[in-house]
Amino acid sequence: ILAEVTVAPLPSLFGRGATIAVQDRSVAEEAEQMRRDFVANVSHELKTPLTAMTGFIETLRGPARDDARARDRFLDIMEREAGRMNRLISELLSLSRVQAEERSRPSGLVDLPGLLRGILAMLAPRAEAAGVEVVTEGLDRALRVPGDGDQLTQVFQNLIENALKYGAAGGVMRVTLARIAHEPLLRGPAWAVTVEDRGDGIEEQHLPRLTERFYRVDTHRARAQGGTGLGLAIVKHIVNRHRGRLRIESRVGEGSRFTVILPEGLARG
Ligand code: ADP
Repeated sequence: ILAEVTVAPLPSLFGRGATIAVQDRSVAEEAEQMRRDFVANVSHELKTPLTAMTGFIETLRGPARDDARARDRFLDIMEREAGRMNRLISELLSLSRVQAEERSRPSGLVDLPGLLRGILAMLAPRAEAAGVEVVTEGLDRALRVPGDGDQLTQVFQNLIENALKYGAAGGVMRVTLARIAHEPLLRGPAWAVTVEDRGDGIEEQHLPRLTERFYRVDTHRARAQGGTGLGLAIVKHIVNRHRGRLRIESRVGEGSRFTVILPEGLARG
């Protein structure tokens, strides 16, 4: 590890003083590299649909000018690509908001089982269309947890949508809420929400990277599903803000389980 030490004189309330800034160059370089990768990823993700749209505009002006059927088809594709850009930009804004708020503690109280029931009701038509039976456990209790309702909605909506997008083949999704008397990771009582599917599962080597921005196991498949690769990154930041933990377990051929563990009391968390 390369370390860089700079000593700079600073005006001090206590007379002449000096501040020592120790900067680990490898950490700084890594952060800079991550920032560059992020900008490159965003540009690439925005450029892909834009290039497709530009191509179709040219075709509409030229060869397809008088072909009504081709025109309708190309307009459909352009609409879909515009939708993809829109989704990407909304998620980028959402990620940047969530990151900006990560250091502040959420101040609300959230009806967690009600929130989960609401998301499941909203996504019920999609589950039915995907042929997925939804099984729940523990969602009928009365409970309020400290947190930010909009953000926790985002967390569970992302996880449940993912289970429907990538785990539909298994035909069943389980959503459970349970109390843990003592969660070692949080050194105290906690609530655990699990979203489990019986889809294809995820190979072990991908698991540690799933919450990275733009990381997708199968980019083509994720794109086809409308995925941006930002969902789990957003989930991670929100869970961090709630002083919680995200646990990801998966086995190829059996399915995946995402568990969000939230401290029972934020003050202690
Ligand atoms: P996306 O917008 O692409 O869905 P996410 O950040 O939500 O992005 O997820 C990242 C990747 O993790 C997905 O592209 C997919 O490859 C994988 N993934 C997420 N949830 C599941 C799941 N339940 N089963 C299998 N793979 C999953």
